[in-house]
Amino acid sequence: MTYKPKYKHVIWDWNGTLFNDVFLCADIMNNMLTRRNMPQISEEEYRRVFTFPVKDYYEKLGHKTDDENWEVISREFINEYENRKLDFELYPEARKILQTIKDAGLTQSILSAYSQKTLEEIVDYFNLSGYFIKLVGLNNIYAASKLDNGKKWMNELGFKNGEVLFVGDTLHDYEVALEIGADPVLFTKGHQAEEKLKECGASLIGCLDELQNILF
Ligand SMILES: [Mg+2]
Repeated sequence: MTYKPKYKHVIWDWNGTLFNDVFLCADIMNNMLTRRNMPQISEEEYRRVFTFPVKDYYEKLGHKTDDENWEVISREFINEYENRKLDFELYPEARKILQTIKDAGLTQSILSAYSQKTLEEIVDYFNLSGYFIKLVGLNNIYAASKLDNGKKWMNELGFKNGEVLFVGDTLHDYEVALEIGADPVLFTKGHQAEEKLKECGASLIGCLDELQNILF
């Protein structure tokens, strides 16, 4: 079967799009809530309340996010996340669709708010490095945003409007995609509930396999 791709490049989000860390993030939050005698949330509640900027999400659950407390909360989250992340997996169809896209001759990259070093390590851990021409994470020293990095990366890629597809799992990804001139597709099994994702006009997919219908 030969595919005729509509796009030349696919930019992927990592967390909640290729890597299924949704339960992990909800569970870490519940541990933080328990330590503070605050009410627990279900995974579904987590997906309804999670948002960007992340501070707003913490505030909605009752956390104080003044500067001092924010540093404590952030460190608490990151420490537990880094300790437990390798207990979690890619979404079931992730490897297959990456291979399908590669076989069709498209190039792929990752644009993530995860730090550059940890992004490189985890992509390598899952043996996925060969699928991507570039991994674009956040470099803490320069504290650039996903949006800034995305703009730079699109300039470097040099593709025109309509040639790049951006696959993410949040309304923030949708906004970033539009700003950098890529076509957004949102995956509904990630960090935000489908009802929320429906608020924007992006194409939605409930399984990564469905990307084939959009790409070819
Ligand atoms: Mg994500």
